[in-house]
Amino acid sequence: MAQDTIGKEIEKRLSWQVKNAWDKMSEEDKKKTMAFAEEYKQFLNQAKTEREAVNVMVAELEARGFKDLKTASQGLKPGDKFYIVNRDKMLVAGVLGSEPLTAGVRIVGSHVDAPRLDGKPNPIYESCGFALFKTHYYGGIKKYQWPGIPLALHGVVVTDKGEKINLTIGEKPEDPVFTIPDLLPHLAKDQMKKTMAEGVAGESLNLLLATIPHADEEVKERVKLTVLEYLAGTYGLVEEDLVSAEIEIVPAGEARDVGLDRSMVGFYGQDDRICVFASFKAILAIDKPQKTAIAFFSDKEEIGSTGNTGAQSRFLEYVIAKLCALSNLERIDTLLEVLNNSEALSADTTAALDPNYEEVSDRQNSAWLGKGVVLTKYTGARGKYDANDAHAEYVGKIRRLFNQAGVAWQIGELGKVDQGGGGTIAQYLANQGIETIDCGPALLGLHSPFEVASKADLYMSYKAYKAFFQ
Ligand SMILES: [Zn+2]
Repeated sequence: MAQDTIGKEIEKRLSWQVKNAWDKMSEEDKKKTMAFAEEYKQFLNQAKTEREAVNVMVAELEARGFKDLKTASQGLKPGDKFYIVNRDKMLVAGVLGSEPLTAGVRIVGSHVDAPRLDGKPNPIYESCGFALFKTHYYGGIKKYQWPGIPLALHGVVVTDKGEKINLTIGEKPEDPVFTIPDLLPHLAKDQMKKTMAEGVAGESLNLLLATIPHADEEVKERVKLTVLEYLAGTYGLVEEDLVSAEIEIVPAGEARDVGLDRSMVGFYGQDDRICVFASFKAILAIDKPQKTAIAFFSDKEEIGSTGNTGAQSRFLEYVIAKLCALSNLERIDTLLEVLNNSEALSADTTAALDPNYEEVSDRQNSAWLGKGVVLTKYTGARGKYDANDAHAEYVGKIRRLFNQAGVAWQIGELGKVDQGGGGTIAQYLANQGIETIDCGPALLGLHSPFEVASKADLYMSYKAYKAFFQ
C-alpha cells in the first residue's frame, strides 16, 4: 500500500470530513436500515394526521405494556413504562430511570402535525355545476403544489348530540379521491405573470366534491344537496355539524421507495413523522435507562407550537409534575429542578442540500442527504432571531455521545444566512430550562406533498435517539 505523504497524514489527523453514512455501514447495518424503512413507510401510510399518529402509537404502547399515567397510582419505580395523551393530538411516552427525577430527564421532542389543507368551518358550496369544498391551508405550504394531485379527506366531526364521527375518504383502492383542478396552460397568461406566491390564491384551493344534481329541480343548489344527502345517509351528518369538525386534506396514496437503489423514501408528512417514528422506536427499545427517558410528540409545530396541544403549552411540565407526584416528590421547586437539569433533542427535520437549488445553501454548513442525522446548533432567521442557540458544552456532549455510539452525524444550517429561516420546538423546550439542540434527518422537498428522506438518515436518527435515551 502506498504511504501517505506528510501533508496527507496531517490532513487526516486534523481536518474534518463528514463521510457518507452508507460508507460507514456494514452489510448487516444496511439490511437493518432497509427493514426499518419498510416499517416506517407503513407508519407514514397509517399516520397522515396528528390524531392518527397518536392513535397508531397508543395502540402499540398499550400492546407493549406501557401504562396510562392518567390512571396510574402512587409508587412509580425504575423501569416502569408510561404514556399520556393530550386531547388525542399530543402524546408523551417514557420509561422511568434508575436515577431520581431531580437528576433531570432526557427528552426527544418531535411533532405529529404536518402542513396540509384544512376544511373551512362552513366548507360546502355550489358553483358552475359543481359542489366544492373550501379549505384554509395549515402551515408553510407552497400553494401551487396542491392543485393537480389526488387528495384524501381525514377528519373528525362532532355532532350536535356530542357524537364523534371519524371519516377517511380517498385511501382505500375502491374509494374516490378529491382534487383541486389546476388552470390549463392555454388560459394561464395572466396567472403565469404572477409570482409563485400569488399564482394560486388561498381562496382558490377548493376541492371538487360532486357534479350530479339532486332530482328535485325546485331546489336551488341541487349538487350541493347531493353532497348533503350523501353525508346524512353515510355518516348521519347535517351541514351545521361541519362547524365542529376538523377535516384535513392530505395527499392520497402511499409512501414509496425513491431511486434505483431504493435508498430513499418519498411521501407526504415526513416532516416530522420521520422523527416521530425514529424516536417512538427508540423509546420502545429502552429498558432500564439511568435517567428517565421521555419521547414527546407535540402538535401545532407548523403554526408556531401554539394552543394547548402545542409545545408552548404546559403539558410537558404537567406530565413531569405528575411523575414527581407519583414518585413522592411533590414540592413545586422540585419540578423546576427536574426541568433545569433535563436535556433534550428537538427532533425535527432540516433542509438537505438540493442539487437543483444549490445556490440557497452554504455547502460547507449544509446537511447532505445520506450523511446521517443532523445536529443543528441554531435555527431562526436573519440574525438568529427566535433561535435556541445550543450551548457549546451541550453540543460537545452530544457529539461525544454520537461518536461513541457509532452514529453517523453531520452539522447543518437551514440555508444561507440571508435566504430565509425557520423554527422548531427547540426554543420552547429550552425556555423551560431544558438543555436543547435540534437533531433530526435532512429532507429534500421539505413541506411539499412528496418529501424525500434517506433511509440511512432515518436509521441513524433512530440510533441517535436510542443512544441519547440510554
Ligand atoms: Zn418540522
